[in-house]
Amino acid sequence: MYNFEFVKPASVADAVAALGEEDAQALGGGQTLIPTLKQRLAAPSKLVSLSGIAEMKGVSAADGVLSVGGATTHGTVAAEAGAYPALADLASHIGDPAVRNRGTIGGSLANNDPSACYPSAALASGATIVTNAREIAADDYFQGMFTTALEEGEIITAVKFPIPEAANYQKFLQPASRFALVGVFVAKYADGVRVAVTGASEDGVFRWSEAEAALSKEFRGDALMDLKVDPANMIGDLHGTKEYRAHLVGVLTKRAVVAAG
Ligand SMILES: Cc1cc2nc3c(=O)[nH]c(=O)nc-3n(C[C@H](O)[C@H](O)[C@H](O)COP(=O)(O)OP(=O)(O)OC[C@H]3O[C@@H](n4cnc5c(N)ncnc54)[C@H](O)[C@@H]3O)c2cc1C
Repeated sequence: MYNFEFVKPASVADAVAALGEEDAQALGGGQTLIPTLKQRLAAPSKLVSLSGIAEMKGVSAADGVLSVGGATTHGTVAAEAGAYPALADLASHIGDPAVRNRGTIGGSLANNDPSACYPSAALASGATIVTNAREIAADDYFQGMFTTALEEGEIITAVKFPIPEAANYQKFLQPASRFALVGVFVAKYADGVRVAVTGASEDGVFRWSEAEAALSKEFRGDALMDLKVDPANMIGDLHGTKEYRAHLVGVLTKRAVVAAG
């Protein structure tokens, strides 16, 4: 690891000011960033820890919306997001206890790993990503593997999830990494159903629009019977072929619908 300066501001304003300096980088729970530094794949001159910012922590629900502070750990979401049970359940299956104890929702969404769990929840829920500068709709936020709408030095301060009538996340675990080999989040709202898939596509998390249309007409697993996902754009690697991942998307979506009831 290279030498770096470490600061731990107590407010969003102070964090943004510190991040304005050249080569400064935000540090959430460090579950992705610290191994990256250890491998010398990044060399920021200053790390700005967000873990001391009280206004970026915690879970609350009001008027049908669940708000999660950007520096809230997965463990806290698992324990405190009871108003949105499918989201709490998703958080409770991220990595292992050590990862859940340190890793944050802001870090996960900023990183946008193609196999991460939260991006599918945010996209399927039509969530709003709140930053120090603006609010970004999930549909505009995810821009491909490890790519988001965030600008340099912009930090995720909160995520707002409209609470659905019914929802479920199905994760087909890649047992070595504990990430999703494929994960599908299904959320049913009064105005339709949204389905978001992680782990499967070369383009990162995506909405399966054919399934959304079918499930919005009829919210039953059988509504998906004639649908198939094109394997062409799927990830193919030693853990699973493109065809296998495409097949899993169908299977997991059906399971999520059945589990959501
Ligand atoms: C063994 C292991 C298993 C895992 N399994 C899963 C899994 O099953 N599912 C899953 O979804 N994830 C999994 N993860 C990833 C985990 O969820 C991490 O917590 C997450 O990827 C990064 O969050 P972090 O808070 O640790 O961010 P960091 O590692 O601190 O930062 C990651 C990136 O985000 C930026 N950043 C951090 N916070 C913010 C913010 N608030 N605003 C803007 N930018 C920010 C940093 O600058 C950095 O670029 C796993 C990780 C490990 C090590």
